[in-house]
Amino acid sequence: MIQNNSSNSDNVNNSDNVDSSSDVQLKNAEHPTQSLDWLTRLIAFDTVSRHSNLALINDVKSYCEQLGLTVDLTFNEAETKANLFVTVPAGENTDIINNGLVLSGHTDVVPVDGQAWSSEPFTPTIRGDKLYGRGACDMKGFIACALTVLPQAVQLSNSGQLRRPLHLALSFDEEVGCLGAPLILADLKARGITPDYCIVGEPTNMAMVVAHKGIAVYRCRVHGKSAHSSLIAQGVNAISYASRLVGYVDTLAEDLSARDDNDALFTVPYSTLSVGTIHGGTATNIVPNLCEFTFDYRNLPHMTQDDILAPIQAKVAELNAQMQARAQRLALS
Ligand SMILES: [Zn+2]
Repeated sequence: MIQNNSSNSDNVNNSDNVDSSSDVQLKNAEHPTQSLDWLTRLIAFDTVSRHSNLALINDVKSYCEQLGLTVDLTFNEAETKANLFVTVPAGENTDIINNGLVLSGHTDVVPVDGQAWSSEPFTPTIRGDKLYGRGACDMKGFIACALTVLPQAVQLSNSGQLRRPLHLALSFDEEVGCLGAPLILADLKARGITPDYCIVGEPTNMAMVVAHKGIAVYRCRVHGKSAHSSLIAQGVNAISYASRLVGYVDTLAEDLSARDDNDALFTVPYSTLSVGTIHGGTATNIVPNLCEFTFDYRNLPHMTQDDILAPIQAKVAELNAQMQARAQRLALS
């Protein structure tokens, strides 16, 4: 996925300019110089999301430091996992660290439990023209390629030929909710680093994906008041009020589809809202005191969660007032 955050088209120098006779070589021959070897090495780290990724991160950190780069790590609360961010500086005096291009990948992989592997998942195996191993495609392959070209970028940097910085960002816990990447973003913000471009090396069947919708999932729980269905004036029907909110969400969804700032590059060219589950009530002759539903919002890049949440929260407040007016101790949350 490539995300363009800037109209600035000036980018890092073309790698054609790289002098293959560079004297920038790894001081420690322990690390690979070929992408296939890097991939083999990376897969061997069992970085299933429930495990620590520190062994992999520390390995990449030492590699970067041997190249003369300064590595920035951000940790999870338990300090069992880390993100890595490193910058190859640009400019004649190698003093430019802002803007530029980020190569971004996640270090964690999905579990292998209960899966029928024909080879050991953490011991890469080449069969035919393919390499098999957990994360080979998603997405240690990309990280291996990025690490392999890093010395070339350092060479350009050292000779003052790198016009824009090249950054490498490795995150943890992407597969379980993108928990690591926000820490990198907060750290970059604190340091005033605002890259122009980011290439995220997720597998896309070799097609360029230039944008991705956001997603936010919401659960709405409506509390009413039970009563016998023959005595509805003594109750507050949670399903009825929930259904009004569901109807409102549907109305918003229709409004989104009719906006004039939609993006035809997406299969569905507008932001979407969709109610996915609903549960409520216990018996036909009981006014239900609880109804719960979930919905998701998938926003175009130029829209935010607040764009949709604000009107829904206003509607919740309106319905809440109506319910409170019917009975005390009732709440919509
Ligand atoms: Zn991935």
